Amino acid sequence: MQRDWGRFNGIGMTSARTRARMVARLREQGIRDETVLTAMNAVPRHIFVEESLASRAYEDTPLPIGHGQTISQPWVVARMTELARQGKRLQNVLEIGSGSGYQTAVLALVADHVYTVERIGALVAKARRHLRELNLTNVAIMHGDGSAAMETSLQADAIVVTAGATLLPEALLMHLDVGGRMVVPLAVEGSSELQRLTVIERTANGFKEQTLEAVRFVPLLPGTA
Ligand code: SAH
Repeated sequence: MQRDWGRFNGIGMTSARTRARMVARLREQGIRDETVLTAMNAVPRHIFVEESLASRAYEDTPLPIGHGQTISQPWVVARMTELARQGKRLQNVLEIGSGSGYQTAVLALVADHVYTVERIGALVAKARRHLRELNLTNVAIMHGDGSAAMETSLQADAIVVTAGATLLPEALLMHLDVGGRMVVPLAVEGSSELQRLTVIERTANGFKEQTLEAVRFVPLLPGTA
């Protein structure tokens, strides 16, 4: 997909060069999937944060996006996308926790359709604005509690949860295709802040779980706001 996003390139810390440096760093940090690196090189991350933080958008750090939430650090976005993709183009991706819409935009470049759910209404509006600005037409964003059972028959080949779950959000597993994967930061026992990236794969006979890197996410919360 060729996109004309050149007009978003600023100068200095919001330039295409700064973004290319971020991608080089992601490669050094072990991200191997070239399709993911290409997507991260394309999406202007600085439009997803407040203007006063735009000069820090390409640092490897989470940043505040208001309402007590954060945009995930670039490495986390890249790693989760790589784990979700497992080297293949995705058809339907379900994301829980749209936040700024940045991870959504990256997913939109590696999947045919992205369905994303956010519990905070004000962030839904923000994310929607950012995604429209980029003219990403293969994304549907919904206001709701993505950890609860959803009234949709959606079958996804990947589910990406971008908030830290204390318990596995089991209601989501029924939306996963056989061969599909859910990537979720799952709490390390006894900690409310520290999680491990966990991959749950749906097989013909059940589910397989794999526990990976330690991460720090804002919590997955019930209800809407
Ligand atoms: N992917 C985002 C990161 C968002 S931070 C980005 O790239 O900017 C996590 C987001 O999950 C927050 O916006 C939070 O409001 C949302 N969230 C937490 N619990 C949720 C739930 N049960 N359903 C939907 N969204 C939820």
